[in-house]
Amino acid sequence: MRRALQGVGASKGLALGRARVRHPHVLTLSEETIAREAVEGEVARLEAAMQAARAELSGLRDKLHGALAQEIGEFLDLHVLILDDPDLREGLRDLIQTGLYSADYALKLQRDRLAAVFQAMDNDYFRTRMDDLDHVIGRVHAALHRREDDGQLGLAGEILVADDIAPAELAELSRQQLLAVVTRAGSPLSHSAIIARGLHLPLVVGASDALSYVNDGDALLVDGREGVLIVEPDANDLSRYHVLRAKIEKKRAQLDRLKRAPTRTRDGIDIGLHANAERREEIAEALAFGADGIGLYRTEFLFMGRNEVPDEEEQFRGYRDAVLGMAGKPVTLRTLDLGADKADNSGLALRNEPNPALGLRGVRLSLSRPTLLDAQLRAMLRASAFGPVRILVPMVTAREEVEAVRARVHALADRLRSDGVPIGERVAFGIMIEVPAAALTLADYTDLIDFAAVGTNDLVQYLLAADRTHEALDGLYSERHPAVLRLLHHLFGTARTAGLPIHVCGELAANAQDAPMLLALGLRDFSVHPGAMLEVREAIRACDIGKLKRRTASLLRCRERSEVERWIQRASAN
Ligand code: PEP
Ligand code: MG
Repeated sequence: MRRALQGVGASKGLALGRARVRHPHVLTLSEETIAREAVEGEVARLEAAMQAARAELSGLRDKLHGALAQEIGEFLDLHVLILDDPDLREGLRDLIQTGLYSADYALKLQRDRLAAVFQAMDNDYFRTRMDDLDHVIGRVHAALHRREDDGQLGLAGEILVADDIAPAELAELSRQQLLAVVTRAGSPLSHSAIIARGLHLPLVVGASDALSYVNDGDALLVDGREGVLIVEPDANDLSRYHVLRAKIEKKRAQLDRLKRAPTRTRDGIDIGLHANAERREEIAEALAFGADGIGLYRTEFLFMGRNEVPDEEEQFRGYRDAVLGMAGKPVTLRTLDLGADKADNSGLALRNEPNPALGLRGVRLSLSRPTLLDAQLRAMLRASAFGPVRILVPMVTAREEVEAVRARVHALADRLRSDGVPIGERVAFGIMIEVPAAALTLADYTDLIDFAAVGTNDLVQYLLAADRTHEALDGLYSERHPAVLRLLHHLFGTARTAGLPIHVCGELAANAQDAPMLLALGLRDFSVHPGAMLEVREAIRACDIGKLKRRTASLLRCRERSEVERWIQRASAN
């Protein structure tokens, strides 16, 4: 039966395909019992799942090497210890044999028993151990429910409907020719959404009813721009789909004509248009679309979705590919920004933190792992021998952090030179402005840096205290909040006074509708994912900076998002 469901559009594009539903593994909450004759079989099923979980953990352990191997290895060893704990195993067997509970329900009961013991201890250390316990139980539970065909069937020509999706998984799935993804959870600002846009993979997030109404094999129509999905579309839907598809193709052909056009406003001012890219395909696209360079290369994607840390040599080759791919245009390589929603969630998460977004992420993590940081900086410096490289430091909060990384860059560059390793003559050094503290004090950094990049995705979340990935906060998290605009205006003004190049590489820059607003606030350099480059160029070419400047004051007077939106409408109308 036809049913239309609403979510939030996170990566535009239309797709028509067969649904593949992946339900989350949830521990059985209701009491589930089995017949006495089934006991042996149930115990055997549980034993096999525990065996499989153990094999997975040791498989991960074996693949580890490199800088984080020790730390991650300790977590995995701990998980094996929990899994092998005789109390856990005995308790589970007893619940099935004596209580006649299903393996699922026994897992839940045993988990709750141990959790009660940990909680009673009321201390942080044991609470962290509880996370580990949940991890192990979750792994056994997933193994209990693994289907024969899991991981074997490809997803070519299908639309995945799932509870949520990790960034690293998306890249893997798109290689399998998946058509689109729909998730119950998620937000358009998550890293998964950013990756989906880079992959041109339609993504609808926050489709709260999708898992209830979509079944495996249903025909599904997904509109990633409007956030709509239609289950079992009817004749009208299909004809609308074909019309819309044709329209999109036409628009694409129009935009294609802008590939070689300058990013110049109507009144003749040249605006910088860089690309955010990390995969080789994106680098090629960036060059083909006339990018002025790479404004953000997120190196963490080299680290995610795998169990071992890439060594200096592998990183060097990756960075050099990017530099060579841009044929002499500058490439901004950002040091590792793992943590928060970019933590690996395959069991290798770096830490169990109560507030990961406020925790050990970005430069904080790098400074706490000097060997890892040095390997990365050396790889970047070596890549600079092949073309202009700019090193960018994420999540800066204090000058001391910048001084520390800068000192490492200088020391490593001296060492490489004295060892006769070729490096570029000049490697620019810059910081991300993502934390309000750094935004407010940008002028204090100008003696240390050559450029700044504004990461609005994080800056907005920290300024508004609204998690960028929180589905329920979608309305509150807004780049059009007056406080965001005033802070950006302050930033662009400070940079201009100091003669410091500044660009925005957060998703705000990629939203073509916001281009007049950003130009009015003083921005002259954008960095956007290649998929958005032509639309943003088109929007900039329609702007008149002289006119926009006369409207800056009224933009800064807006007190509500709706007023900002009206300002944007008026600005784009003429
Ligand atoms: C940002 O925060 O705007 C940004 C570009 O960094 P990331 O999205 O990788 O956190
Ligand atoms: Mg960021």
